[in-house]
Amino acid sequence: KKLGIALVGLGNYSEGQLAPALQETKRCKLTAIVTGTPEKAEKWKKKYSIPDKNIYNYKNFDSIKDNPDVDIVYVVLPNALHAEYVVRAAKAGKHVICEKPMAISVKECEQMIKACKDANKLLSIGYRLHFEPHNMTMAEFGTKKVYGNVKKVTALDSQEMEAGVWRLDKKLAGGGPLMDLGIYCVQGCLYTLGELPNAVTAKFGKKDDPEKFKSVEQSISFTLHFPSGAIAECNASYADKQNLLRADAQKGWFELSPAFGYDGLKGKTVRGPLDIVNLNQQAFQMDDFANCVLKNRKSRVPGEMGLRDVKILTAIYEAAESGKKVTLKGLS
Ligand code: NAD
Repeated sequence: KKLGIALVGLGNYSEGQLAPALQETKRCKLTAIVTGTPEKAEKWKKKYSIPDKNIYNYKNFDSIKDNPDVDIVYVVLPNALHAEYVVRAAKAGKHVICEKPMAISVKECEQMIKACKDANKLLSIGYRLHFEPHNMTMAEFGTKKVYGNVKKVTALDSQEMEAGVWRLDKKLAGGGPLMDLGIYCVQGCLYTLGELPNAVTAKFGKKDDPEKFKSVEQSISFTLHFPSGAIAECNASYADKQNLLRADAQKGWFELSPAFGYDGLKGKTVRGPLDIVNLNQQAFQMDDFANCVLKNRKSRVPGEMGLRDVKILTAIYEAAESGKKVTLKGLS
């Protein structure tokens, strides 16, 4: 039997990536949708043969608890809404996948973890790159010290952003490109080094368009400091097109560029290009979670990892605002 997934929020990511990936998954399938827009419900109903009884809106969402066709709720809403819907999904007795960043505060992340624990349900974060072979090759090279100890990681992720969208509204996004893209830099550095940072420094970039970027940063540079002495230099921006994860190690370098996209990732090392296939990351990510549910095993990208990253993002903002080095203690 394939487990049933309900997608909550039918925006670009659900429409362009998750629903198509759910046509390729082996252990789960799209059985329900949650949307506030009747026209979208109609379109999705036809396209994916979803019965009327499996179509919810944000008001009647809680009645999903009575629907045996749904095993997993996947929250794909603006960041500030993640906490509410993850908690409601857990209370409805469903396992949950929540998109990144997990939430807009550490407190919310803790509430989400508790709600899933209290309901005895699994929680994972939409960290698709843990199921992507180029990125996992970076992790392998780094942690197995294939090129010796990694001394420095460079992670850059930027994307141009149109004005007026929720990603530029701090209330809905929790912050700017750091929350949206910088999280990939943080993740990339941590899985490449296999180590947790103990301090951060950071600096906001200048705003070319203060009106467009009135509530969030346009760009941010930050440095993560690691106990081994390694450092990671990162930049996240809404006004650029950079996409790189690179490690400089004692005996050479290895990198991905682009590193964080859905497809077309390319790797090379000091020895030459890497020959790695691009797979449907989201299909692997969701099948892995379905397997976790079926075997009652914790996800390798659990809520605790989402919480850890929100703690790091919060410290990066604190460092940028204060201009001081911020110490990170007790990460796990
Ligand atoms: P989007 O703007 O395309 O879609 C957001 C959806 O939420 C829309 O359908 C919108 O109607 C709905 N919505 C419900 N309540 C809303 C409200 N109060 N305000 C605004 N929209 C509301 O966004 P998206 O790109 O699909 O991103 C959704 C989530 O997925 C975000 O958390 C984002 O970080 C994450 N995401 C992850 C990846 C990834 O690669 N893992 C990629 C893209 C987006």
